Amino acid sequence: RKSVIRITTGSQALDELLGGGIETSAITEAFGEFRSGKTQLAHTLCVSTQLPTNMRGGSGKVAYIDTEGTFRPDRVIPIAERFGMDPGAVLDNIVYARAYTYEHQYNLLLGLAAKMSEEPFRLLIVDSVIALFRVDFIGRGELAERQQKLAQMLSRLTTIAEEFNVAVYMTNQVIADPGGGVFISDPKKPAGGHVLAHAATIRLMFRKGKGEQRVCKVFDAPNLPEAEHVFQITPGGIAD
Ligand code: ADP
Ligand code: MG
Repeated sequence: RKSVIRITTGSQALDELLGGGIETSAITEAFGEFRSGKTQLAHTLCVSTQLPTNMRGGSGKVAYIDTEGTFRPDRVIPIAERFGMDPGAVLDNIVYARAYTYEHQYNLLLGLAAKMSEEPFRLLIVDSVIALFRVDFIGRGELAERQQKLAQMLSRLTTIAEEFNVAVYMTNQVIADPGGGVFISDPKKPAGGHVLAHAATIRLMFRKGKGEQRVCKVFDAPNLPEAEHVFQITPGGIAD
């Protein structure tokens, strides 16, 4: 593996949970209910990735694939200011694309890989990785095909992460778990089944706490301690 870099999330507690921040050459997945902070972490990482490595950044550019239309350049400005960076320069180093179908999403990845071979990228965001698959393959009969296409996309993400030493941050949705098996108090589980579970290097579960407080837990990682940490969503991005 190329020399792995860890990029700060903006929260010490969250960084600790991750062993120092989100890792390059790896896929970090965040899943959780609506408004749990998945997209806000993406916004923060857009900035922190551009910090120099001695400031716990990645000294690199950012690629952002948005399937839900929730990227807000306006939100990046106060986050850049918090980290002492020039907002205009920060925005210039974010290559943004909105995807409208799962095929479009896949083709965007191919185009980005070409860009990454020419310029130093350290972060690829896919927010959300699964939403378009859930729209484009609706019926139960299509599930096998959906999972096959999803596997193809995830394999592409793994290749990009490793080939370009990029941190992939992908968000995932939660779905009702009729078995109620995952969380006793909240019968939901991450979408995407085994295919998605196996692609992620690390899976984070987000949930809402009081006010702007959020809770993050490392999900299903046998070699990491069962721990959860509280973080906040602030105008300057994710913080303690
Ligand atoms: P998800 O992507 O998990 O659905 P988001 O990351 O979009 O959730 O989180 C949305 C939440 O972020 C909002 O409910 C709000 O509490 C918080 N938020 C958004 N913008 C700001 C801001 N400028 N300052 C503080 N909190 C914010
Ligand atoms: Mg979101």
